[in-house]
Amino acid sequence: MAGTERKGYDGGRRRRKVLRLKIFLGLVSVLLAGAAVVLGVVLWQLLQPAGVAVLPPGEQTVMATLPEEETWKVTEAADFAALENTGDPILDAANLLAKQYNYDAAIELVRGVEGYAEKPGYPEAIAAFEDLSAQCVDWTSYGQITHVFFHSLIVDEELAFGSDKRDDFNKVMTTVDEFKKIMQSMYDRGYVLISLHKIARMEQQADGTWAMTKQPIRLPRGKKPFVLSEDDVCYYEYMTGKGFSTKLCLDENGKVVNEYVERDGSVVYGSYDVLTVLEDFIAEHPDFSYQGSKGILAFTGYDGVLGYRTSDFWYSDTCDYYISNPKNDAEKANDHTSPNPNIEQDKQEAARVAQAIRSLGWELASHSWGHPDLKNISYERFAWDTDMWEREVEPIIGPTDIILYPLGADVGEWMPSSYGPENAKYQKLKQAGFNYFCNVDGAQYWVQINPDNFRQGRRNLDGFMMYKQILHPERVLTSDLFDAETVFSSARPLPVPGVE
Ligand SMILES: [Zn+2]
Repeated sequence: MAGTERKGYDGGRRRRKVLRLKIFLGLVSVLLAGAAVVLGVVLWQLLQPAGVAVLPPGEQTVMATLPEEETWKVTEAADFAALENTGDPILDAANLLAKQYNYDAAIELVRGVEGYAEKPGYPEAIAAFEDLSAQCVDWTSYGQITHVFFHSLIVDEELAFGSDKRDDFNKVMTTVDEFKKIMQSMYDRGYVLISLHKIARMEQQADGTWAMTKQPIRLPRGKKPFVLSEDDVCYYEYMTGKGFSTKLCLDENGKVVNEYVERDGSVVYGSYDVLTVLEDFIAEHPDFSYQGSKGILAFTGYDGVLGYRTSDFWYSDTCDYYISNPKNDAEKANDHTSPNPNIEQDKQEAARVAQAIRSLGWELASHSWGHPDLKNISYERFAWDTDMWEREVEPIIGPTDIILYPLGADVGEWMPSSYGPENAKYQKLKQAGFNYFCNVDGAQYWVQINPDNFRQGRRNLDGFMMYKQILHPERVLTSDLFDAETVFSSARPLPVPGVE
């Protein structure tokens, strides 16, 4: 057989190859053993409580031999030694600040205590914070901050993928388990959550004008900031009974939790969506958050927000701006649980939850009121929709200057000049107070910090994109963040529709 002949022919060459490989591997293991000894000594020194403050002379060498993205792991080893739980509330609070890279605030907190220099552990803590701070570097690649987004997470995969919306869910949704794996992988690879306002913000310049201004970002070498958002955090009526959480609410201790209705109708409270799952993860890994940064939640208004049916337009019979015509009347009767007799109470409750979410460090954003294609609708419809958002949603969630375009449909082209005086839709959004504008883009990075605005493209980490990555392993779709093969749920029907 041709195959056997070929095997025999290659045999001699293969043995020589194997021998060369053995010599090579031998050399490599000698080198690796040497490196391990150096690393071991350095880590041992770093882990000494008193040695935390001072980086040993060998540290530079180890940093130089590790690939850039790995060097923060050495720094992190020091973190864990310095920032352990002490039982002292001031030190513990300061350690948490330091774990989240806010060294100045940590130092200030300890120094604020009277007689701190005499208190056991306090001067050591300050020295450790100063040294950890000195190891950080300025993040200068503002153009290389990735932004990933999700929709409400699937809790019950069998229900969701067995429902009448299975194709949509399969494409644009992510499951709770997939989300947890993605966060773990991004954490392991050195990603750190950052708020948009910590990347750049509108600041008054020396000449009195206002401009979007880059903010200093300092992180351990090799750690990478990223932005995360979740769209349509409304728990729409059509999703009820299809395997998703039904609302965000506060438990008896004022903690933000998800409500989830089990198949047997029993109601449970816990972590069933992006916010709550991520809060759990950050509680375990505080260094996943840059100075307390969390994600962005974006809301439409037509079905209410956070799972509360708060739209007067659809849920109040006495709404004086409701437009009665055959189409709207039919929709009101068929598509909405109309009216909501508790609408005023629900608005207050939603506002309370939104405030609690803000207090956790989350940013809240507009996703338009009615989820139209903002790029292609008429200006009149666009202006009406923007006004409706300000009328029905802003009073509940509070003012915001972030808009995450529904359907990713940007009101301008990619050039910064397309957000100029002649772009009436952009001008309307600016007047409504928006400064941050996010579309959807498959590129790893898409960031513009212009004088009048901040623009960023977002990447959908959903069934569509993961399946596409699996079909095209040579492309970078999600592979810079996680391994799609290990994350992708085996409960997903295949193929994911529309993926080529
Ligand atoms: Zn949406």
